[in-house]
Amino acid sequence: MHYYSLNRQSEPVDFRTAAVAGQAPDGGLYFPETIPRFPAEFLTRLPHLTPAELALTVLRPYVGSAIAEPELARICAETVDFPLPVVPVTDRISALELFHGPTLAFKDVGARFMSRCLGYFSRHETRPVTVLVATSGDTGGAVASGFLGVPGVEVVILYPQGRVSPVQEQQLTALGQNIRALEVRGNFDDCQRLVKQAFRDDALRQRRQLTSANSINVARWLPQQVYYVAALAQWPHAQPPVVAVPSGNFGNLCAGLLAYASGLPVTHFVAACNQNNTVPRYLQSGHYAAQPAVATLSNAMDVGDPSNFGRMLELFGHQYPVLRKLLSGYTVSDADTTATIARVSQETGYVLDPHGAVAYFALEDYLRHHPAQRGLFLETAHPVKFPEAVEAATGQPVPLPAELVDLMSRPKQSTLLEPEYEALRAYLWE
Ligand SMILES: *Cc1c(COP(=O)(O)O)cnc(C)c1O
Repeated sequence: MHYYSLNRQSEPVDFRTAAVAGQAPDGGLYFPETIPRFPAEFLTRLPHLTPAELALTVLRPYVGSAIAEPELARICAETVDFPLPVVPVTDRISALELFHGPTLAFKDVGARFMSRCLGYFSRHETRPVTVLVATSGDTGGAVASGFLGVPGVEVVILYPQGRVSPVQEQQLTALGQNIRALEVRGNFDDCQRLVKQAFRDDALRQRRQLTSANSINVARWLPQQVYYVAALAQWPHAQPPVVAVPSGNFGNLCAGLLAYASGLPVTHFVAACNQNNTVPRYLQSGHYAAQPAVATLSNAMDVGDPSNFGRMLELFGHQYPVLRKLLSGYTVSDADTTATIARVSQETGYVLDPHGAVAYFALEDYLRHHPAQRGLFLETAHPVKFPEAVEAATGQPVPLPAELVDLMSRPKQSTLLEPEYEALRAYLWE
């Protein structure tokens, strides 16, 4: 498989080059040259396959000959060694729980797959690799956990000061070893802009081998298809589900759309956003207008100019009517998010996190207008990652899972950074 740049000013490359570079030299996102079809017998056998087997079948055509099959099978098995259960919440709505990995959020699958691929590709490398990543909350922790202790790899994480939860901040700042955290005096878009600028800085790249860990990296983006395939493997109804995805940078939803384009049966997609609703506004108007990110309760989705939007357009040949028919956009306020957490907890006993609540609210509304359908929403984080919002809504404390007790007691180590490129450059130059 080859990947071309969406800016079309760089040469197509194989999976290895795309994963190591993160972004094309012309600044574009890499996109696969062909969209493979899932074999028909794969789709009929779904319920009998393990998550690792699903991952191998989904990812093999994308990796091609860049990683030998036994090695890729091992990487897939390590990537999804935890369950991805579909849990019924009401008679028409189920949760696809994606928070059973080591950092309790869905980004573990993409981050683990990518870290293992990069570890494999750099095994003969003499220059150290620096993984540079901007996070709105959960990416950083997943990437840090994926790379912790990997020899020859240093991880530098930029996160917006005061905009991540205490558990998230500990997962970024308290691991030590080869993980460094930069606390940026700005918002997520500032962090993302600084990272993008570093990737365009040729002199810096001469000095350090930079690689990206954001959802723009194909090795992080593509494995997210496994969620949707795993959901279908557990789906008990004849009619395929409506799938609601809480979205920020749109990597996750775009992976779902990719699986759909490969033949996975899905009735409809719902793009659920908080007040940062650039894509829902696009779906309504056909015009894309980025806006500055605003802070909300579902902070991992506080993105005003989502990176993966270009991939969504590319996937559907820039046909707005096609995309619009398959995908509905919703904007969910913080007030509705809180009310949804409270109501669902009272009525069903299921405790949503704010991101899952945004998707739940949107899905419920969609199903109200489509009474013959059923749906699932992606529950992308454990509620304990956002205890303030959840406790304020339910009036109940969220107990700390045992595996977090030790992490929460470790000292925070971070470096303050002004949201200016010179500051980041000086830090990386050393
Ligand atoms: C990152 C994240 C999202 C948004 O995912 P994208 O792929 O950026 O759209 C949603 N929920 C949680 C909990 C996240 O960490």
